[in-house]
Amino acid sequence: MRKLPKVAYFCMEYAIESNVKLYAGGLGILAGDYMKEACDNGYPVIGIGIKWKQGYGEQLIDKENCRPYDAYVNRYYDFLKDTGITVTVRINQRDVKVKVWQYDAHGVNNLYLLDTDVDGNDGDARWITGQLYGWFGEERVAQEMVLGIGGVRALRALGFEPDVYHFNEGHALFAGFELIREKMAKGQSFEEAVENTRKEVVFTTHTPVIQGNESHPIERLVYMGANLGMTKKQLKAIGGSPFNMTVGALRLSRLSNAVAQLHKETANKMWRKVRNRSEIIGITNAIHIPTWVDSRMLELAEKYDGSAKAREELWNRHMKNKRDLIDFVEKRTGVRLNPDALLIGFSRRAAPYKRSNLIFTDRKFIEPLLKSGKLQIVFSGKAHPLDDVGKRIVSDILEVTKLYPNSVVFLENYDMEIGRALTRGADVWLNNPRRPMEASGTSGMKAAMNGVLNVSILDGWWPEACRHGVNGWQFGDGRQFEDEAQCDAHDFEVLKNCLTREVLPAYYQDRNKWIDMMAASINTTRDQFGMKRMLDEYYNRMYIVK
Ligand SMILES: *Cc1c(COP(=O)(O)O)cnc(C)c1O
Repeated sequence: MRKLPKVAYFCMEYAIESNVKLYAGGLGILAGDYMKEACDNGYPVIGIGIKWKQGYGEQLIDKENCRPYDAYVNRYYDFLKDTGITVTVRINQRDVKVKVWQYDAHGVNNLYLLDTDVDGNDGDARWITGQLYGWFGEERVAQEMVLGIGGVRALRALGFEPDVYHFNEGHALFAGFELIREKMAKGQSFEEAVENTRKEVVFTTHTPVIQGNESHPIERLVYMGANLGMTKKQLKAIGGSPFNMTVGALRLSRLSNAVAQLHKETANKMWRKVRNRSEIIGITNAIHIPTWVDSRMLELAEKYDGSAKAREELWNRHMKNKRDLIDFVEKRTGVRLNPDALLIGFSRRAAPYKRSNLIFTDRKFIEPLLKSGKLQIVFSGKAHPLDDVGKRIVSDILEVTKLYPNSVVFLENYDMEIGRALTRGADVWLNNPRRPMEASGTSGMKAAMNGVLNVSILDGWWPEACRHGVNGWQFGDGRQFEDEAQCDAHDFEVLKNCLTREVLPAYYQDRNKWIDMMAASINTTRDQFGMKRMLDEYYNRMYIVK
């Protein structure tokens, strides 16, 4: 076998284990699953991340007032190994010490975490690695300097010589600045250094939400010291003004990828005006199967032949997973759901485009289903601490749980454990973002491989997987709207039709069809959306230079 390129993978967050709070959401889930698969297969990948002292906030519910509130807790991890390495990054006019830890647990030993909470740093510096996605611009730049600049210096100190630097999201862009600085220190001109840095860098872009693509005034980058000696004019040539981290990463990479095929179209449109940027190809996200999928369901689906015996075995196993979820929900909320009624799962970050409350658009439609006990819905999700609109969405759902206490529940403090329980034990996984805002989505993949049937808008990964009425359902035909109100009205109408004409009848009147669909759901997704496929595609299409 040819020697594989060595890869340094940079990301602000990693979801390795539910209680190791180094993650916020989907980006971290992807990065954690990627690191696990790389470890499982012995690929020469090193991850660079941050050891967050508090990480992302817990989000709990004030039940009286139906309001979410945030809480931060200091975290201690005894499985981190001290590498003995400390590097220095000059941030906002002073030298900040950055300590390097090695993650060695939960099937991952190739992840290095950077930490400024060490003796010798002033109080502010110690808090740079305090909370994931710091709240203010300068704090964020400081965190990104630790990740990018500190990360490259850590690699040098570790003696790891990457062939490829992979920036997972624009957060890692300052690693590119450090690569340019190194080259200029060896005598290359700025132009040469940029050209040669590009040859080593690949980039993954994530969100079509404009505000999700961070930007900073150029002055801020200069006074924080992120420019590493580059002039304002040189910074502008890379990221524009204000300086956009995604634009910068598109310009400092030789190749980029979007995270699904539809997202490739969306991202190329979104960034079409950026000159001198790398090409954006589509490599669809995937999941680490052992982390998320019940291996017994996989086994039963593999040998599934549509016989009565096969059906019974697959159904019984699903019912075990469903009862586990029902027990879990009861323990957390006191509500006992009914194992014989259709159970819809929905857990998402409470971002407006994900429309958590779409299904409640028309109470006349939903109320009889909920009151008769034909339909139950389990929600979970967090709003960003500063996102009042997102918090309003959570509050709205909490109000609904009060109206239908036996059939609608909300699980507070969404994390990997809740994600795992829901994507195993629900009957249906509902996904209704405004197309094309969902770049990929991975929770639907977890569900699909557990035999939990997707009912989804054609957005993100789903257009690549959906065989309507065979392995799940689509609603809407991929139409897009300029007007949000029009979009919401249309999508609710088609969701309603899909539920009443297809999903409910199949569940209650044609159980055999339902079970066949469960098997098809598992068997049509396990290879295509398993992390091995994604990792190989990263290697074959991005890392290996042809
Ligand atoms: C899977 C997962 C996600 C990502 O799922 P989406 O489909 O992108 O919403 C986010 N958070 C947790 C805790 C998860 O388990």
